[in-house]
Amino acid sequence: MDTPLDFVDGCWKAFGSLIWRYDENGKTKGTDAEAFRKHGLDNYFSSRMLFPPSHYCSTPGCTNTRLLRDEDGPSKVVFYTLSDGACATFATHLSCSDCKARYYPNYVVRDGIRIYYDKIPDAIQVAGHQYVERAVLNLFINLMLISWTSATNGAQVYNTSLSRPENLPGHPDWIETSFKLRPEHVWDGFIVLTLLEDHQARSATLRVPHTGEQRDRFTSAMEERNTRIQLCGQPEWGHYCAKCIRVWDDNGVTRKIHVIVIDGITIGHPCCGVLHCPIRSATIDIVFVPTIPLSETRFVPSKAAR
Ligand SMILES: [Zn+2]
Ligand SMILES: [Zn+2]
Repeated sequence: MDTPLDFVDGCWKAFGSLIWRYDENGKTKGTDAEAFRKHGLDNYFSSRMLFPPSHYCSTPGCTNTRLLRDEDGPSKVVFYTLSDGACATFATHLSCSDCKARYYPNYVVRDGIRIYYDKIPDAIQVAGHQYVERAVLNLFINLMLISWTSATNGAQVYNTSLSRPENLPGHPDWIETSFKLRPEHVWDGFIVLTLLEDHQARSATLRVPHTGEQRDRFTSAMEERNTRIQLCGQPEWGHYCAKCIRVWDDNGVTRKIHVIVIDGITIGHPCCGVLHCPIRSATIDIVFVPTIPLSETRFVPSKAAR
């Protein structure tokens, strides 16, 4: 504590009114966030910086014990939050110089595979430069479950009511950036968060391809989950008792009848016109899926063919 007392007094006089300004909730957060918006973007920092959870390599067998390296510097991203709206911020990724693993805020990439961290993050990456706060995604999920709100309307609700356009930066580096949340961000956020919750509940790790199109990235993980739920995901799937099943002998043939309880609503999905066809159609317009790849056929799907 070698700082002279009169220097401390001078600092309090110069900065005292800035650093302890409370808002109506008794917090400085709003004031701090505004200061970050005004002065941080030039220096690549904001009040909501996104980092990988560890600064050391965790690849099994990697002997690198040094700090991971930030080779490319922070990248500009938009973070859609519940309390501060759409925020301009920065995401950092770190690299291991030995095993070449790349650590991002949500996952580590090894050999072309995106391996999500076990702890579900508060900022879920939904596109290359877009992150959505977990609380916002839970809002969308509840809107879907309770009031049948579509992803398009969820995005519209966010953009009109929660995006806080007054917080958008006027900084020249961000003029070209769109701060509008899009329906595909809502869907990808929904998919990533629910897959992560599903894996966490089973103490499993979510792994998806890092390369290829974003729209195909989670298809295999969703199919794997759907198959598991279909086969053994319902805890009562094997239930039977004298109240809900009746078995009788019909002239030497054993017959049975089940009670089925449904809510009367069926949410359909496009499928092939051949009953129980296991091949997924490439588009919702295809009535009968071709048995050879679309790229090798002159098959032209048409609504008029229905
Ligand atoms: Zn390593
Ligand atoms: Zn029963």
